[in-house]
Amino acid sequence: MANDDRLKKVIAHAKEYGFVFPSSEIYDGLAAAYDYGPYGVELKNNIKQYWWKSMVQYHENIVGLDAAIFMHPSTWKASGHVDAFNDPMIDNKDSKKRYRADVLVEDYLLKIEEKNKKDIAKAAKRFGADFDQAQFEATNPRILKRKEEMENIKTRLYGALEEGRLDDVRQLIIDLGIACPVSGSKNWTEVRQFNLMFSTQLGSTSDGASKIYLRPETAQGIFVNFLNVQKTARMKIPFGIAQIGKAFRNEIVARQFIFRMREFEQMEMQFFVRPGEDRKWFDYWKEERMKWHLALGIPASEYRFHEHEKLAHYANAAFDIEFNFPMGFKELEGIHSRTDFDLKSHQELSGKKLQYHDPELGKSYVPYVIETSIGLDRTFLAILSYAYQEEKLEGGSERTVLKIPPFLAPVKIAVLPLVKKDGLAEKAHSVLEDLKTDYNCFYEEKDSIGKRYRRQDAIGTPYCITIDHDTMQDNRVTIRERDSMKQERIPISQIREYVKERLHF
Ligand code: ATP
Repeated sequence: MANDDRLKKVIAHAKEYGFVFPSSEIYDGLAAAYDYGPYGVELKNNIKQYWWKSMVQYHENIVGLDAAIFMHPSTWKASGHVDAFNDPMIDNKDSKKRYRADVLVEDYLLKIEEKNKKDIAKAAKRFGADFDQAQFEATNPRILKRKEEMENIKTRLYGALEEGRLDDVRQLIIDLGIACPVSGSKNWTEVRQFNLMFSTQLGSTSDGASKIYLRPETAQGIFVNFLNVQKTARMKIPFGIAQIGKAFRNEIVARQFIFRMREFEQMEMQFFVRPGEDRKWFDYWKEERMKWHLALGIPASEYRFHEHEKLAHYANAAFDIEFNFPMGFKELEGIHSRTDFDLKSHQELSGKKLQYHDPELGKSYVPYVIETSIGLDRTFLAILSYAYQEEKLEGGSERTVLKIPPFLAPVKIAVLPLVKKDGLAEKAHSVLEDLKTDYNCFYEEKDSIGKRYRRQDAIGTPYCITIDHDTMQDNRVTIRERDSMKQERIPISQIREYVKERLHF
């Protein structure tokens, strides 16, 4: 299935089956805002729970926090967001479309890289088993020329961005002959900086009201509470604070469904370490987080690390974990070594000490921080788009199935009486009553059993339990597994044990 098609199908399926709806759809929607429907909210909650358990519950040295979305405006001055949370934007005068100037150049770089990849693949085919890729890349003149070209472009782009030379960014776009993908023209406006924070007024009178921001990241709520948490939970360095919550960014180009939204949710953990031990912990968390993703059962080939070339103002190292979304490999999670930048800035601006007294070292210091920051909505999209499968079945029929990892599935078990009469519905209800205290279950008695199975496949329910006339005699049910569609007959008394083993994470 072509990638564009795949994304379109996932979006349509998400809407039709109650996972994700466009926000305020009856008014034709609001760009880059989405609502999660009955199955979407279950999947989202399950992802949150998986993250929370593996970060907070399984780590003795990580505790949780739920900070307010509104924060004192000085927070965003200290963090650098007021001055530096900008994206360079550029408009095409003919199509009137707005773009991120750096993304236009980065897309151009990707195209050059693609050409290199094609040449490498061709050479690999030609030379077969004897192919030495490293040597080929180091000696092939075409590859080398393109690499040099890419380096030059990157130096110009990142140098200009770093020093705020926006005219040079525009000149680069013109020199590279980049055209608007919509109009095909090269008729560009100036490049301007655009701050991504949403602001609003706090207070009711116009005189007394003051400007505040909707938080663009959850991290700062953790930093300003560093000492509150450390002291009350009696944490010793190294330790972490985890938080799940909404963040808001006025993205210049919000597209690709829930990949880039203006209101989204982050799951962040800030890990406080001794100065000088930051690199060690950075490497540790980089690997740990990749393991978390792989534990979902999605193959490793769908993930990759990407090292940041241009570091944010607070970081001394940064890697993304990228996922192979239907639109290609894109950032899913960021692991950042944030140094002591945030705590130090808050300390300076607030005049309050944000230091830790290390009893082992016998001294106080501002800790260094390793951050793991993952988008909940992007994780949702990664899981949903990977899970979406269209299968041809024996006998020529087809089914659409969501192969969501069973422990994350919105509905775990569907209880289906073959028919309503003859006491089957009552029997099914008694099975349901027993299971629903532990699992999110679904009950349905309408339509043929085949149709009911298809509907459960479409929302990713791992197990369907069917109660038939034999059940009334032998107290056994048919349990059907989503992926293999295999059916087994087991006693009602063994259902709990059966599903428990398989729904465990
Ligand atoms: P990008 O480069 O894609 O804009 P970012 O580097 O600005 O992302 P971070 O500031 O590192 O993102 O935020 C951490 C995580 O939050 C990202 O890895 C992503 O999963 C999520 N995230 C960031 N912006 C958005 C958004 N607009 N919509 C949905 N998720 C987002």
